Amino acid sequence: MKSWIEIEADSDFSMENIPFGIGLIQGNGKCICTRIGDTVIDLAGMARLGYFDHLGFKVSDFEKPVLNDFISKGKKSASRIRTIIQECFMESNSSDSDMALIKQMALHNASEIQMLMPVLVGDYTDFYSSIEHATNVGMMFRDPANALLPNWRHIPVGYHGRASSIVVSGAEIHRPKGQIKPATSEFPVFSPTMQLDFELETAFVIGKENPLGDSISTAEAEEYIFGMVLFNDLSARDIQSWEYVPLGPFLSKNFASVISPWIVTLDALEPFRCNGPGQQPEVLPYLQFDGERNFDINLQVRIKPENKEETIVSKSNFKYMYWNMSQQLAHHTINGCNMRVGDLCGSGTISGPDAESYGSMLELTWKGTKPIAMPDGSERKFINDNDTVIMRGFGKKDGIRVGFGEANVKILPVK
Ligand code: MN
Repeated sequence: MKSWIEIEADSDFSMENIPFGIGLIQGNGKCICTRIGDTVIDLAGMARLGYFDHLGFKVSDFEKPVLNDFISKGKKSASRIRTIIQECFMESNSSDSDMALIKQMALHNASEIQMLMPVLVGDYTDFYSSIEHATNVGMMFRDPANALLPNWRHIPVGYHGRASSIVVSGAEIHRPKGQIKPATSEFPVFSPTMQLDFELETAFVIGKENPLGDSISTAEAEEYIFGMVLFNDLSARDIQSWEYVPLGPFLSKNFASVISPWIVTLDALEPFRCNGPGQQPEVLPYLQFDGERNFDINLQVRIKPENKEETIVSKSNFKYMYWNMSQQLAHHTINGCNMRVGDLCGSGTISGPDAESYGSMLELTWKGTKPIAMPDGSERKFINDNDTVIMRGFGKKDGIRVGFGEANVKILPVK
């Protein structure tokens, strides 16, 4: 699809994308936006021009600080808005007078718009669904011969995280501090984390709620998934390894996690559907599914030291996920747990089979034993103060590119 808006060839925000986010627009406040190329489109402005009248949307439906109410109107509504935007911005479809009005009422340069948290996250769950990641961590922290715990191939393992500290790309986070037990001492010490790490993840946003007591089947699961974002689940490994038995991670994870501001819909990701890894042994019936449920999404992590160039430290892909999102959601609700609009489910660190495709510094440097050389001559075992961690992700197939933009976070010295 060609647009009358300029789109660079490698833009994440093609006409096939049309993601949803919340922008802060000078003079207009917070409103629902989408983006084509480097142009942010204020959907409240489009509504003022009457483009969504026939769908029953009012201007005020787009003047919102978060997407939750919009998402609650259903995936079909969002899908229709996406189609209208595509038609409206198609090169062949607009008259000069339409274009002039739209430019005046609804278009902004992306560099001038501050993107905000797209949803109010009620509950946040993080899974542990990459077999390569679970195997690597098991080898480092437990027994290399029995790296995967006996339940791993039967259960999409997950834990309930904390929603309050999920922040949007561009955040600055102070290095956390806490209890750490050095291997050489009998008792813990109190210290800034010396092993601050990223976790390369995606997350899906719940788009429809199920009543408490009901389950969502794998067949229905995608009706409940509004879209996806990039997700950096920051982790303090030294705090984690001391605290995580028996109830799992706590303060090592809840100090901050970072999402990309644009929610990319499953409609937009449709061209990148693919099969996931085969599952052996066969899973229980409620976790079985039909069709292609994984997505071929290239993922990348870069580290940018202050005032220096950025270096790629990891290249992975969402398609490596052993457990897919439909299985995660079916498992999450099999006991009757109710999901609510805006809830977020993290994939878990997405590592691939090669050493360059590992999704955390823990694995990339193998617990700090193989530091990464940076172009400025320094090395990284984990994340240093004043480093910015940049995550990117996009699908690309048959000339179509759909991407997420970035999830960035700068690490400041300990408070
Ligand atoms: Mn995680």
